[in-house]
Amino acid sequence: MRASREELPTRAVACALTSRRLELESIEVRRPVAQREIMVAGQPVLRQKSKRIKTFGPSIESLVADMVDTMRAADGLGLAAPQIGVPLRVIVIETPAEHDEEGNEVKTTQMYVYCNPEIIAASGEEEDEEGCLSVPGYVGAVKRATNITVKGQDAKGRQVRTKAEALLARAFQHETDHLDGILFIDRVDSLEKLRLVKPKAEGAGTSRDEESEQVTIQQRRRLA
Ligand SMILES: [Zn+2]
Repeated sequence: MRASREELPTRAVACALTSRRLELESIEVRRPVAQREIMVAGQPVLRQKSKRIKTFGPSIESLVADMVDTMRAADGLGLAAPQIGVPLRVIVIETPAEHDEEGNEVKTTQMYVYCNPEIIAASGEEEDEEGCLSVPGYVGAVKRATNITVKGQDAKGRQVRTKAEALLARAFQHETDHLDGILFIDRVDSLEKLRLVKPKAEGAGTSRDEESEQVTIQQRRRLA
């Protein structure tokens, strides 16, 4: 049985409210970082078409929270649900803060959570190197639209829409591709354009150029 507010002495109410607030705060603070395993190329979930979200609720919000934690822990710019093994149409993108020459923050970090994202307009074209948490160690030059408009729903099912350009537009195109089973390595003109950016083993004593040449046919096949 719970006492109603009127039945409690004022001080007790204050204490109860304070302790409730502290409890909530500590829950917030104590929430463990839910870092999930990131699927890498070769795992079938990355190649399937993800399903649309029809019902919104705590399970979607929890999925989004896990995705944000996983993306941040991996130092990623974006993440799609299939990358943590969940074939649902959900993406998260977090753009970094921008600073001017004196180090003043001119733009804060921005978080985008999109369920059922659809790119409804695209224009321009630019080629730039991109990488993917599911294709660790490689980057490749990919042509993407420069400007896009994306619409979808947030984690609670509310309609959202964003106009994006350059890096953010690229991130939206890369992440929505994941929902259709497409990886950036499918969009490079040729697999020769893939570049190895991480040594395979520390202390191997090879230069970056030599490493690039070590992308063997077998490795390329495994990536695709
Ligand atoms: Zn990716």
